[in-house]
Amino acid sequence: MKYLFGPVNSRRLGISLGIDLLPYKTCSLDCIYCECGATTHLTVERREYVKTEDVIRELDEYLSQKPELDYITFSGSGEPTLHSGIGKIISYLKSHYPDYRICVLTNSTLLNLKEVRDEIISADVIVPSLDAMTDVSLRKILRPHESVTVEKILSGISSLCREYCGKIIIEYFVIPGINDSEEEIDLLKKYMMTIEPVVVQLNYLSRPGAEKNVPRASFNQLKAISEKLLPVNVQIIDSSLDNCSDKEIDKAVLDKISTYSTTEDLSLTFGIRKSDMIKILKRLEESGLIECFDSERWRRKA
Ligand code: SF4
Repeated sequence: MKYLFGPVNSRRLGISLGIDLLPYKTCSLDCIYCECGATTHLTVERREYVKTEDVIRELDEYLSQKPELDYITFSGSGEPTLHSGIGKIISYLKSHYPDYRICVLTNSTLLNLKEVRDEIISADVIVPSLDAMTDVSLRKILRPHESVTVEKILSGISSLCREYCGKIIIEYFVIPGINDSEEEIDLLKKYMMTIEPVVVQLNYLSRPGAEKNVPRASFNQLKAISEKLLPVNVQIIDSSLDNCSDKEIDKAVLDKISTYSTTEDLSLTFGIRKSDMIKILKRLEESGLIECFDSERWRRKA
């Protein structure tokens, strides 16, 4: 497959088939944490980077086999809304494969354009990332195209929130020492209170990024941020668990229970819903590996 990848088992979306509409590595940002490497074509120009018909043909070939999928996700190695055919592809999927839900992961840099918002508005979930609340952090972390500013990003996300009826998940990639200051988190909280997304997901470095030595946020740092953001609904995302089997996830959770942990803490740590975390903990308890005490606290059995 040339434009499709996966499906991958992603914890936040389930089984997700990826669509990559951009040639490597075309993006409006050059994030220091990008897992795909450095951006070689930094642009905000919207055009048909790959033929829309070719992508649709590949989708037809794949989806005609009726694969079990939770989502078809626009993501990949660049910003998907740079492709001028994204609206046409979403409309095609909606009319020909209505049983599949659609997700768009976007870096938010083009959301200030009405045409872009109109093209993605029929997606079921949109995940705009917002990693900087000041232009200083923006330049340090995201190294954007010269036309991109925090003001434009915020205005684009706000407009999307007003016009869109689906689920919006904001992703904030925490880089300690850059975008986790009191000022930045306070601005983030105030902004979140105005747009009220379904959830804010705190992400952090789990695989090597484009730059070496990007600091990785610790769980305690992320938890402190999530507390400062209250009452905003926050989850902590550990994407290193993507594509893992239940057995591997059970092991990761078990490894984390070295000290006394609450169900809430574990749910936050792994970005797994509390109801799903309870199922994992019950499995570990039934296997005799952990025990519950003090109502919601867990410890490993000796
Ligand atoms: S927006 Fe996404 S694809 Fe573009 S540089 Fe940043 S992380 Fe990489």
